[in-house]
Amino acid sequence: MTSYQGRTVLVAGAAVAGAAVARVLLAREAVVLVADQRESESTAELELAGARFVGLPSALPLGVDTVVASPGWRPDHPLLVAAAAAGIDVIGEVEFAWQLRDPAVPWLAVTGTNGKTTTVLMLESILRAAGLRTVAAGNVGLPLAEVVGTPYDVLAVELGSPQLHSAPSLRPLAGTVLNVAPDHIDWHGSFERYTAAKARVYAGNAAAVVNLDDEWSVRLAAGSARTVGFTLSAPPQGSLGVMDGVLADRTADPGVVLANVSDIPVPGPHNVANALAAAALARVYGVDPAAVSAGLRSFTPAPHRNALVSTVDGVAYVDDSKATNPHAAAASLSAYGRVVWIAGGLLKGVAVDDFVASIRDRLAAVVLLGADRQLLAEALARHAPDVPVTEVTRTDNGAMDEVVARAAGLAAPGDTVLLAPAAASWDMFSDYSARGRAFVAGVQKLAAR
Ligand code: ADP
Repeated sequence: MTSYQGRTVLVAGAAVAGAAVARVLLAREAVVLVADQRESESTAELELAGARFVGLPSALPLGVDTVVASPGWRPDHPLLVAAAAAGIDVIGEVEFAWQLRDPAVPWLAVTGTNGKTTTVLMLESILRAAGLRTVAAGNVGLPLAEVVGTPYDVLAVELGSPQLHSAPSLRPLAGTVLNVAPDHIDWHGSFERYTAAKARVYAGNAAAVVNLDDEWSVRLAAGSARTVGFTLSAPPQGSLGVMDGVLADRTADPGVVLANVSDIPVPGPHNVANALAAAALARVYGVDPAAVSAGLRSFTPAPHRNALVSTVDGVAYVDDSKATNPHAAAASLSAYGRVVWIAGGLLKGVAVDDFVASIRDRLAAVVLLGADRQLLAEALARHAPDVPVTEVTRTDNGAMDEVVARAAGLAAPGDTVLLAPAAASWDMFSDYSARGRAFVAGVQKLAAR
């Protein structure tokens, strides 16, 4: 295990992950410098604990042995580039935690464009139902640096591609790439680099858990010694899948039933895929079938993911504000019949034509908002010319109330009004949860009328 005693470490970024790293380093008697754009409660607390806040220095402070970068810091940040050029170790928070982990506590790791948080929380719930000491960590739940010092049996770990990018020695016991679709290309610079980062989750696994229904999930596992597949169809030998309303495991002979599809408390085929991935990871670790169904039944979804807000005048209002890219929104729409779709925001450079063509049959009407709504309006005009589309141009606090009111005006009993924007929220909201809360508030006002 790496000893940090007496070493000078620059922690780049003082948000949740960086602060956890700094605290661990202080406990290990390192000299800790904390870099961040501005002072905050977090930097003040770290200073009280013995760290030195250095702001955003234009040059690397003297004497630094190692830099631990938070996921928000792109690898081309001048400070990180300067450190690497000077031959100084630059590692990510995940790599840091991996180096300090207890080797007796395996990691079960989940990455993918969409479904990570849901899958990791399902996995945590299944592992707990099996009586194991575990916690969801990484991108969801607690930062990894904070949990590696606690005596868990096994960890359920969510990793985004930025974290994987900077964690070269990571070797989870089992890992899965749930799916790969274009997103965050701006961060990585290209689709190839995005997929290369995701492939890291398969490195050195006892088993790579692959989504047989997703081309890239399978392709990236090409070099793995053992793979366990999962599919929404009947499972071939060696995989998990769905048969007659049950999740079936055919990794051994004879196969076993793990759970009923109806045990999964969130709607849509994408959530069945998430449950299969969680089950496969748990089974690789040796969890009994009974714990899979118990864990899925007791799983509590994170907010703003296909959450039914209310049913008003026979119309269901569903908040899937976390659908921040077209791949997620397409999955989300597939969970419902006729949909009045609320979409728009920042598309992050992702093309939408194929996506809009693929969902048009479900659309009763569309309400658009946000910066890139015009791109969606044009794609809808090309591929779904008969679907009524209305645009809300205002961006003030009342905008979402108007969006909800317009959607209500377009919906018929039996329809679902679905907020699944296919876009990021930062043009109008502080984040996706603020957008989701604005939607919930709008629906509540509608219901009260
Ligand atoms: P992540 O942590 O990867 O962002 P979440 O579990 O938070 O994933 O889900 C984000 C959104 O992605 C959901 O709100 C839903 O719209 C969509 N989604 C969830 N699971 C999947 C999946 N397996 N495939 C495609 N889309 C999904």
